[in-house]
Amino acid sequence: MAKITLDNLAHSYLPNPASEDDYALKELNHDWTDGEAYALLGASGCGKSTLLNIISGLLQPSQGRILFNDKDVTQAPTTERNIAQVFQFPVVYDTMTVHDNLAFPLRNRGDSADYIRQRVQQIATMIGMESELNRKARGLTADAKQKISLGRGMVREDVNALLFDEPLTVIDPHMKWELRTQLKSLHHEFGHTMIYVTHDQTEALTFADKVVVMYDGRVVQIGTPQQLFETPEHTFVGYFIGSPGMNVLPAEISGTTARIGDHTLELTTGYGPLTGKTEIGIRPEFVTLTSGPGLEIRIKRVEDVGRHKIVRAELQGRAFNIIAGEGEEISADMTRVRFETKAINVYQNDWRVTGDAA
Ligand code: ADP
Ligand code: MG
Repeated sequence: MAKITLDNLAHSYLPNPASEDDYALKELNHDWTDGEAYALLGASGCGKSTLLNIISGLLQPSQGRILFNDKDVTQAPTTERNIAQVFQFPVVYDTMTVHDNLAFPLRNRGDSADYIRQRVQQIATMIGMESELNRKARGLTADAKQKISLGRGMVREDVNALLFDEPLTVIDPHMKWELRTQLKSLHHEFGHTMIYVTHDQTEALTFADKVVVMYDGRVVQIGTPQQLFETPEHTFVGYFIGSPGMNVLPAEISGTTARIGDHTLELTTGYGPLTGKTEIGIRPEFVTLTSGPGLEIRIKRVEDVGRHKIVRAELQGRAFNIIAGEGEEISADMTRVRFETKAINVYQNDWRVTGDAA
């Protein structure tokens, strides 16, 4: 197992990148702690696979270094990196049995027949394929083939890291939950460094200790699910995470107040002069509908989602969401909202700024 260090890493698919826009992966410095389970979360096209393939060695970065336990492996081929990688679509040997597919990485390393039999059995149980070990992979469903791919990724105990690139895409929803649970228990048992790529926040938040959020080729925040919820460092994190995501409103920040239209909000701390685009972010969970004083909204519809209600509204012409309690009455005179002051984040050019001490 290994700590993985990314040192001034960046990648462009173009031969002569000129500006930052030409980079699929913008410059990045980061340590992946040995033994930690990470999710790499972001929308399609933001650079997740690029980053993963650089770590595994399938792709040579155009800039920077990768270190495993402080040893430079930037030029090392995949085989030397001792990494298991599982892709979005199944990679199996059709002519081999399920057993032999699972045994393949172990045979390659010359493990003993006894060990291989026992380990393959264990992995087959984890992926729910014990009864199909002697079948040829050919003719199995895509779902079953992907389970084999996952099993092959997990079969070796001595890898430096396990990389998963949206591995559950072709798996049916029920089995998804089951396999994710298996991956988690595998992590608890062996303590591998794991990086799990997904565009699905639920998957990311349930799998990982730490979530690495990417946006447009950049890592915008690394944090626990709670940190991503309470203090999104970038407005993208705010609205990508949460259902619905954080509300972001243009605001004029001055000292300890935020001005939105003709309404003034008090903030918990003071802010120095901010330049460029200034906004506040407030999650729907921390907004209350009221008939008293507050910011004016127009309710468009109310969705009852069981545990609570989502109120879809408009504030100064922009979509604005509120989460109200399940039993909460929403009356016609509730045309304003109040924000929980402590839950307001302030953004300058999309990045969160912390205030001075109040
Ligand atoms: P993700 O995995 O987050 O969906 P990718 O890492 O696959 O994103 O892609 C990041 C960006 O790099 C995208 O704009 C994509 O079009 C581009 N890209 C990916 N692979 C290649 C490639 N082989 N050649 C050129 N551009 C690529
Ligand atoms: Mg991808």
